[in-house]
Amino acid sequence: MIQYAPAESNQEKTHVQPTDDSATHFNTRAVHAGMEPDPATGAVITPIYQTSTYAQTGINEHRGYDYARSDNPTRTALQTALAALEGGRFGLAFASGMAAIDTLLRLVAPGQRVVCGNDLYGGTFRLFDKVLAITGVRFTFVDTSDTAAVAAELAREPARLVWLESPTNPTLRLADIAAISAAAHAAGAQVAVDNTFASPALQQPLALGADFAVHSTTKYIAGHSDVVGGAIVTNDAAAYDRLKFLQNAVGAVPGPMDCFLTLRGIRTLGLRLRAHCDNAAAVARFLEDHPAVAEVIYPGLESHPQYDLARRQMSGPGGMVSFTLRGGEAAARAVALRTRLFTLAESLGGVESLIELPAAMTHASVGGAEALAAGFAVPAGLVRLSVGIEHAADLIADLRRALL
Ligand SMILES: *Cc1c(COP(=O)(O)O)cnc(C)c1O
Repeated sequence: MIQYAPAESNQEKTHVQPTDDSATHFNTRAVHAGMEPDPATGAVITPIYQTSTYAQTGINEHRGYDYARSDNPTRTALQTALAALEGGRFGLAFASGMAAIDTLLRLVAPGQRVVCGNDLYGGTFRLFDKVLAITGVRFTFVDTSDTAAVAAELAREPARLVWLESPTNPTLRLADIAAISAAAHAAGAQVAVDNTFASPALQQPLALGADFAVHSTTKYIAGHSDVVGGAIVTNDAAAYDRLKFLQNAVGAVPGPMDCFLTLRGIRTLGLRLRAHCDNAAAVARFLEDHPAVAEVIYPGLESHPQYDLARRQMSGPGGMVSFTLRGGEAAARAVALRTRLFTLAESLGGVESLIELPAAMTHASVGGAEALAAGFAVPAGLVRLSVGIEHAADLIADLRRALL
């Protein structure tokens, strides 16, 4: 069986804080969170407050908004919704996923250490290795699918932060968020989870014990490949105060139109993830049976080494599928050029299906000696699919034709 528990039952189990008593289920929160009728006009949908500044009634007397880098009502609505999706108290929106990650990493002082996974998103590895490392923040890369290895690393030397991705991009390995959070807290470290691949519809890191859920909202949360954005959600009031300060002080904020588009995507997040999971499961099964395919990596297949953990920690296996071909890299390149419904493109999590070769595309920045020394290995012949919400039969027909 590929499907897990229905999303609703998992959400009952894991949600921490509904926004109010009537919004206890995920899909209800996704539709209603942050959606107060506009105080000025009663508009049901929060308007795009396309303004940089706000009139003040006296010196420093205003209605909660003075300058749009600091706050904007469209962003406030989005931040309320983001917090509600992750079952957290505080949400912050950023101009991109990388901006969110960079802002969070400013909680780590020069000299302090971050223990992080060794198959991170390529852009995250580049930020850590090429930008933040030269400021004196230290990074130790470990296989975060191995809980004992993470615990041993924390016992060897203290760390300020443990940085997890689960599932990882593109090899779809899982980290045991609850077990690693317990070990990290015992060692005095906080835990951040990049929850982009699962989305809050399928996995809720804060309920599992993590301190921060981080997103590229560009992907599933916005969901329509038409906006770039990022988010941090936390229950830690002191960390939130500092991050809110940094959001304004550093200034990597999203514009009101971006916030509006992301909010619009959020309304259908639960519905879309059901469709992504159903289609990805069908595609994964098809690939597993195809003679040209060597290996399929999908957390919903019993052949996935962490199938049991996936069932425990996620309410569905997600929309991402990776595979290798018997014909190796040359065959992988040929398939990626032959599909028609699967568009050859970077990114993921939109309604339309995409295909790419991570080693040559999204993870090209994960090359060279430093990456290899850290244990990074993105196989050259790996194909990554972001399975969209088209009809599964059409997607499978497209792959069947491309695999010939
Ligand atoms: C895309 C992505 C990011 C970076 O987000 P941007 O919105 O592109 O800046 C970070 N983490 C993961 C897992 C991603 O897929």
